[in-house]
Amino acid sequence: MSFVEVAIKVPLQRTFDYRIPAQLNGLSTPPQVGARVMVPFGNQRKVAVVLALKTHSDVPADKLKDMFEVIDDEPILSPQHIELLRFTARYYCYPLGETIHIALPSALRQGLCPDKSSINMVALTDKGAKLPSLKAKSQLNLLKQLAESGKSSLTELKALGFSKKTIDSLLNKALISQTIEHDNQWQQQTPTVSTKPTLNKEQAVACSTINQAQGFNSFLLEGVTGSGKTEVYLQCLEDVLKRGEQALVLVPEIGLTPQTVNRFRRRFPDTPIMLWHSALTDNERLQTWRFCEKASCAIVIGTRSSIFLPFLKLGMIIVDEEHDSSFKQQDTLRYHARDLAAYRAFQHKIPLILGSATPALETLHKALNNKYQLLSLTQRAQTSTDNKFQLLDMKGQPDQAGIAHGSLATIRQHLKRGKQVMVFLNRRGFAPTLICHECGWLSECKRCSTSATFHKAIGQMICHHCGEQERVPHQCPDCGSTQIFPNGKGTEQIEEFLSSEFPDTPISRIDRDSTRRKGSLEKALDDINQGGARILVGTQMLAKGHHFADVSLVLILDVDGGLYSCDFRATEHLAQLVTQVAGRAGRSGEPGQVLLQTHFPEHPLLQDLVNNGYQDFARFALQERDDAQLPPITNMAIVRAEGHNIKQVVDFLTDLVPVQSLTGIQLLGPIPAPLERIAGKYRFQLHIQALDRPLLHQYLAQMVDYLSTSKLAQKVRWSLDVDPIDMI
Ligand code: ADP
Ligand code: ZN
Ligand code: ZN
Repeated sequence: MSFVEVAIKVPLQRTFDYRIPAQLNGLSTPPQVGARVMVPFGNQRKVAVVLALKTHSDVPADKLKDMFEVIDDEPILSPQHIELLRFTARYYCYPLGETIHIALPSALRQGLCPDKSSINMVALTDKGAKLPSLKAKSQLNLLKQLAESGKSSLTELKALGFSKKTIDSLLNKALISQTIEHDNQWQQQTPTVSTKPTLNKEQAVACSTINQAQGFNSFLLEGVTGSGKTEVYLQCLEDVLKRGEQALVLVPEIGLTPQTVNRFRRRFPDTPIMLWHSALTDNERLQTWRFCEKASCAIVIGTRSSIFLPFLKLGMIIVDEEHDSSFKQQDTLRYHARDLAAYRAFQHKIPLILGSATPALETLHKALNNKYQLLSLTQRAQTSTDNKFQLLDMKGQPDQAGIAHGSLATIRQHLKRGKQVMVFLNRRGFAPTLICHECGWLSECKRCSTSATFHKAIGQMICHHCGEQERVPHQCPDCGSTQIFPNGKGTEQIEEFLSSEFPDTPISRIDRDSTRRKGSLEKALDDINQGGARILVGTQMLAKGHHFADVSLVLILDVDGGLYSCDFRATEHLAQLVTQVAGRAGRSGEPGQVLLQTHFPEHPLLQDLVNNGYQDFARFALQERDDAQLPPITNMAIVRAEGHNIKQVVDFLTDLVPVQSLTGIQLLGPIPAPLERIAGKYRFQLHIQALDRPLLHQYLAQMVDYLSTSKLAQKVRWSLDVDPIDMI
């Protein structure tokens, strides 16, 4: 072989050929497919990944350069993995070199090859297992965490907010011990499985259907919160482990809680389970990567990007809460981890389980068309009580801080009975705007077509879109009046109002502002579960994954925003959110009460959701999408463009619209984005739709080709989003 074809991280839809210098060809380690090499690029040295070895190159001999050197003796990407990345790049119309770059841990991107073959685990000693009383609360909490999980890695403990000092003092007292696990430890032994519940009938059917499936099969496990989906995952995993195979469990960003991880660790105490999420350091990522490729770790529980991990013997992929929007990357390579999971399962010929109480319409559509097999869990596993939904008509109701008097009375009743109450509002801060009582001035972000949110506690106005911060004005900038007031509600205001209304009741607020510090979310959740806080106020962070034993009332304040929106997915997202939030109630044995405040109680969607539940709503909504010829019935892509010069932005998109219409392709635009200006830049979109997916991709490929030569494209920032999940 005389030539290598390589991928390099450059924003071009192509690969590059290099000559293998004679002296390299004679070496014992010539370049291999999937290994990294160093190549000259312009006047730089760049890391490249070998895609193919060739005896012939189409590049003229005088244009060909010699590659420099081989970095890896062994490939870092298997042929199958390269195929996954090629598919990803093709599907999302993104350069292959950049796709590979995004998939790799940063040390590998940089051409380094550090050894990361061991990991520090911490466990209780016999003395520690007795949970002796300790003065330091953090030390006691650490012991409790280890009692829950069996063992945890040092890095996980740090991520939970435990300091090195806490860990060291427990080590000194010999209450915990440290072991080093190596990347060759996991042999295909029969895994130890701790005691587990006997599956109910529906669970047992789901489990045996999945375990009996041969080859590639996708399952939609549709079951309300608490119906025992996780139990089904666990018992399916048992079979995978017995076969000596690995499994990937994808969870939403917010669902990767110690509660989840501890449950897996407790069930399989001697099975190596690793985590993957955005808070890992570069070293930790490399560690997990290495453990995966050597099959030294059996289960990875990870967020979106764990879909690119190099499993040696992948036996199953599970996507929990598959409808969650955090599985879709919203910049650069705009991939959807759930959809790539389907490709990967197909590649490895293994089962894929998608679990949700509120399946995405995309997934449900496939299940109803028999592309995925539908498995339903209709009963709650432990308690069989259904929540009671109620619509509270806000028209003409007196309210304080957005809470109707009727709702207040209900809160009081539940608190009196010793229960917990959850108040949900998907807007953080104190108020979405300030308004001038004299002239009607509204606090707007100077750089975006949106308002600046009033954060009372820190005395700042913050734009939630561009992050711009300013001090709260004392006077109206337009008329000088001092009569400026908060307008609209945010979680901060709800918390303030409820503390004055219920001065003796501990309240906990959970939103992005209150949980910024490492470990603070865990601490707040812990407080809630210990029964400390009686009222929980929060945004959608409260809606997912967490278990609150005592919540008997859920109050949802801002339903109306989701009913009337320019995004055709808004109603789907609202229904998912309401159902997920409602799932937090009624876990303690008695039916929970779910109260929705709305000005439109007669709205057909709300009626359907409240009376018949998400399943019914979703099938109704799919019919509506069919009538309107929208995804998932059709396939969509959006070209977004932004720039300071509005004409350049519009011209760029107009240029993409062909003079003659194309059969099978619908184009809409250029149209202004729902948020027409962010951080001073104008934003426009072109929507592309087709019933036929191959046709859409054919069209997009041509368009991307054209864009690489378009002069207009160089004047704006543009991106292409295949299967977008929001319109912003
Ligand atoms: P989901 O993942 O659907 O929210 P879980 O698997 O977390 O549901 O189950 C909810 C609760 O019910 C958990 O505490 C779990 O241990 C328990 N559980 C699940 N399946 C069973 C079963 N078959 N018998 C008894 N308890 C069960
Ligand atoms: Zn004014
Ligand atoms: Zn802004």
